[in-house]
Parts: sequence; structure tokens; C-alpha cells
Amino acid sequence: MKLLRKIHAIINKDTTEENESKKMSVLIRMLSLTLVAFFLIATVAFFLRGYPGAGLGNLGLLTLYLLIFLLSYRLPKMATVLSFILVTTLWAISMLWLFGPDSGFQIFPPFLIFIFFFAGNSRFFRKLVFGIVTFALYQAMSLLYGSRAPLLDISISARHCVRDSCMFIIILCTCIAAHIFSRDSQILEHKLIEYNKRLKEKANTDPLTGLNNRGMAMDYLQGFVKRADSMICCICICDIDHFKRVNDTYGHDAGDLVLKAVAKAMKNVCGEKCFLARWGGEEFFIAFPELNGDEAMDVLYRIQKAVKKSSVEVNGETISVTLTYGLTEYDKEKGLDENIKDADNNLYLGKEQGRNRIVF
Ligand code: GH3
Ligand code: MG
Ligand code: MG
Repeated sequence: MKLLRKIHAIINKDTTEENESKKMSVLIRMLSLTLVAFFLIATVAFFLRGYPGAGLGNLGLLTLYLLIFLLSYRLPKMATVLSFILVTTLWAISMLWLFGPDSGFQIFPPFLIFIFFFAGNSRFFRKLVFGIVTFALYQAMSLLYGSRAPLLDISISARHCVRDSCMFIIILCTCIAAHIFSRDSQILEHKLIEYNKRLKEKANTDPLTGLNNRGMAMDYLQGFVKRADSMICCICICDIDHFKRVNDTYGHDAGDLVLKAVAKAMKNVCGEKCFLARWGGEEFFIAFPELNGDEAMDVLYRIQKAVKKSSVEVNGETISVTLTYGLTEYDKEKGLDENIKDADNNLYLGKEQGRNRIVF
């Protein structure tokens, strides 16, 4: 575990170019190390099987990949990628040269094109040119070496073993690269979704009370109006009575505490059934979906009781407030503003009649 953590730290070490993304360098390091391990096994296998020439060739590739790994800490990102592509092309040529067209060398071009496409921010045209040139190069190579007899005369089963292990390692490298790119984009996507969610929440929430704000209340109402069904809904606008006195007597901070306490009491009664928002300074908005006027009145009585209980203690003094409520049944025949006006008119009627009451 300790060794794995150490390798992880080495691979993820920053590049010297601090303005560059280190993702590509990290990928090339991972691929180079994987290939170093692969060529180490291949070198031993060739020497043991009595092919010292092929063994030395493998040792050469191992050294080159090790060099790329070390240089990735010093070279700019693109130079590292191009060195990797160059050495891998060299590997592909030697496969064709040593083992013939049945060496599985056809798997190299798509892998290299994949790496190049993700490596840089260069334009699509440049990437396309790279793809075409790579394809042409590999075609030329297969024309050049494909018809010649393989340099290394080994049994068919041994050749297949070489081909399969080579294909396996390239597929493994492709998986590693694909994993790194997909993981990064998924993490980024997740972060963006979370960020958007938080941004939306912030834009729709009143910072003092934590309730929905007026904009959100309007969105809610517009959503309700757009629904073509016959769902009923009541709306209420309520206002704290003589709130100015609270501020004047106990201070603005105490007023804020009262606003929070009132919001909390309302929220506790409303739960998930009603939609609650801070409409303005000391005004609140409540929507009662699927409730008629009488049912909404019942909820408002409960809110009235809860607010009464939610007094606030400031400097040993208890501050208790009441609200006046203007309630109306939403009439889809009328416009949105007209319905809000109805609730507002009822609220002012309540104020005129002496406050601390529900007017429907
Ligand atoms: P009424 O019963 O007629 O509604 O009287 P009122 O005193 O509540 O009404 P008025 O409109 O005269 O005063 C409302 C006060 O609410 C004035 C304003 O300073 C205060 N207020 C508005 N927003 C906030 C807030 O966020 N925090 C605090 N502490 N006070 C606020
Ligand atoms: Mg008021
Ligand atoms: Mg007011």
C-alpha cells in the first residue's frame, strides 16, 4: 500500500511548466511505466527463449520509455506526447520488421491517434492531418515490410503469443487513457452540476430566513398558471404587524431575529405541503396547492398559533409579534397580477380592521 501511494505521488508530481495541465503528463507517465514493466517481462522472456537480439531490442524500448517517463518532469507536455508517439511508432515498425504483418501492429495507429487527439488543444484540422499521416505511414510500412519474410524465425504459436501480448498491452494502455479522460470529464461535469445547483439555490433563496425569495414565488405561480389542469390553489400574503416598532424599540438585529423566528414557525407548520416565500421586508407569501379557502384557513390558524409561540428573547425581554393574512382562492380566469392584488387587498383590509387576523 505504501509503495502504491509512493508511485501515485511520483506519477502525479507537477510538471515544471506550471501553466500547463498535468493530466497529459500524468497519463504519459502511467503508460510509460506500464510499458516499462511490459518490456521488462518481454526482455527476460526473449533472453530465456534464446532470442538475445529480440531481447536487446526490447531492452532498448524499455530504456526509451523509461527516458520518456523521466523527461516528462522536464519537457513541455507536447514534447512528452510526441516522444511517446515516436517511440511507440518505432516499436510498431520493429514488430512488423521482426514478426511480419501478423504481429498485430495494426492496433497501433488507432491508439496513437486517440492519444494525439486528447493530448493537445490544437485545431481539429491539425489532428485530422495527424490521423491521415499516421494512417499513410502505417500503410507504407506494411507495403514495405508486409511482403518480406519476418526477420525472426519463430514458431507460429510463439508469434501469436507475441502478437496477443502486444495487442493486450496496447488495449490496456487505451483503457488507462480512456479511464483518465472519462474520469476527469465526469468529475468536471459533476462539479459543474453541483455548482449550478448551488448557484440556483442561492439565486432563489432569501439569505436571512432561508425561505424561497419573491422571484421563486413568481416562478412557482407561473408554473401553476401554466398547468392546464383543474387543480385549485389558494394564495396568501401576510405581513408582520407594527414591525417598525420592533426595530425602533429593540434594534434592527432583534428585528432580524424576529423575522427568522416567524419564518421558522411558518415553515414548521407548512412542511412540504405549502409553498412558502419571503415576499418582501416583513411580508411572506404562502401558496396552498390543492386546498380550498376553508382548508387554507385551517392551516393559517395553525400558523397564527405557531407564530404566537415563537417569541424571541433579546436582552431579557420577550418579543412577540402577530401577522395579518390576506387570503384568496386562485382564479385562473384572472391574470397572475390580479390574483396577487386580491390577496394584497385582503391583507390591507385586515390591517384596516385592526390587524392580527385572516381575511378571506
Ligand atoms: P404594519 O402593521 O402596517 O405593517 O406596520 P409595520 O410597522 O410593520 O409596517 P412598515 O411598512 O411601516 O414597516 C415595516 C418595517 O420593516 C420597516 C423596515 O425597516 C422593516 N424591515 C424590512 N425588512 C427588514 C429586515 O430585513 N430586517 C429588519 N430588521 N427590518 C426590516
Ligand atoms: Mg408590517
Ligand atoms: Mg409591509
